[in-house]
Amino acid sequence: PSRVVIVGAGQGGLQAAISLRQNGFDGAITLIGAEPGLPYQRPPLSKAYLLDGKAEALTLRPASFFESKQVTYLPDTRMLEIDRGACEVRLDGVGGDRRLGYDHLILATGTRNLRPPIDGLEHAFDLRTLADAGRLREALAAPRRIAVIGGGFIGLEFAAVARKLGHEVRVIEAAPRLMARAVSPAMSRHFEAWHRAQGVALHLGRAAIGVDAAGVALDDGARVEADFVLLAAGVRPNTELAEAAGIETVNGVSVDAQLLTSDPAISALGDCASFPDPRSGAMVRLESVQAATDHARLIAARIAKGACPDYAAVPWFWSDQGDQKLQIAGFAGPAATEEVVADGLVARFDAGGLAAVETVNNARTHMKARRLLAPGGSADLAALKDAIFA
Ligand code: FAD
Repeated sequence: PSRVVIVGAGQGGLQAAISLRQNGFDGAITLIGAEPGLPYQRPPLSKAYLLDGKAEALTLRPASFFESKQVTYLPDTRMLEIDRGACEVRLDGVGGDRRLGYDHLILATGTRNLRPPIDGLEHAFDLRTLADAGRLREALAAPRRIAVIGGGFIGLEFAAVARKLGHEVRVIEAAPRLMARAVSPAMSRHFEAWHRAQGVALHLGRAAIGVDAAGVALDDGARVEADFVLLAAGVRPNTELAEAAGIETVNGVSVDAQLLTSDPAISALGDCASFPDPRSGAMVRLESVQAATDHARLIAARIAKGACPDYAAVPWFWSDQGDQKLQIAGFAGPAATEEVVADGLVARFDAGGLAAVETVNNARTHMKARRLLAPGGSADLAALKDAIFA
């Protein structure tokens, strides 16, 4: 292909442009992003940025990168349609409606916040973009009673920062435990105890059913009084345009081990893509910087070189909640069992053996676990203990 169009200028989309040039691709690259400004990293939005407000520190590459690498970057530009017959995307942005031809198209459209059926959600803040985080920083300037809907990573990271700033914080989580989709019950308990010790009030197993200017109504009739409410109840992949174009989607744009969609002229990556987990073969969709950037590297290598080995990266993830740095190596499905190896160190297992290792403030063990989980191996508890305690 000589013309690559990348839609979505987030972590994965930008990485695809960087890696294409690193791999010697000398065709045209166009990077299209719906947001204004330069591509930036999202993880600090619920962490350092809320405290320091340093937006420039989030920028992934300066404007000079796009010039020197001859990457055409179109911010404030939204893809409206994929015309697979003509191999064109239809865009809406500065200069109005236009069409752009591609030889290969990379979908890196990410996710958007899930809006559950809760009355009055217009009163709630979101935390997905730099603009969202800027609004939250302003709201945090005065002492507040804050309600957070959702006890997942983003809600809890925000809760930890807000509490540190002296605000009164209540987290409402419909599941009986925190981060239930992503971590073991033992790790949920660790973080539940930590947040409670900081003075964060937790309403577990309680669903929010309404939001108004004075707080949140819960499904048991109780109310959480709040001056402002953050909605952090998960996300939905941006797959509508792919679906409308007849590309296969199931919980994300479905891709194979080469990260190709059902159309061989179109790849998908990162938060919007559902891909075969190299270890288990199960289709998964991961919301992590690691998946977005490793996907991008594979797609770029394949386009630039014409072929590359199947995707085999070990998943890893982190979440900073106050002084607690959670790291997860590997990926465990909901049926995985757990073994508490030590305080703040949990191993998870499935039919294939060791599936994931969760650690708190223990980067050494996290790195060892990532090596142990590399494809081809099938580690067990003894192998993990050997690696950690040797
Ligand atoms: P994104 O970076 O979300 O980029 C997608 C882009 O596509 C967006 O800018 C969107 O505007 C654009 N787009 C969508 N549709 C269109 C369209 N039709 N036309 C043009 N552009 C479009 N991950 C971690 O690993 N660790 C963390 O600690 C962590 N913390 C996080 C904290 C917050 C507050 C958030 C929001 C996310 C966090 N993540 C974290 C997740 C991580 O940021 C994402 O997994 C990662 O950004 C995914 O990259 P992506 O390229 O797939 O999507």
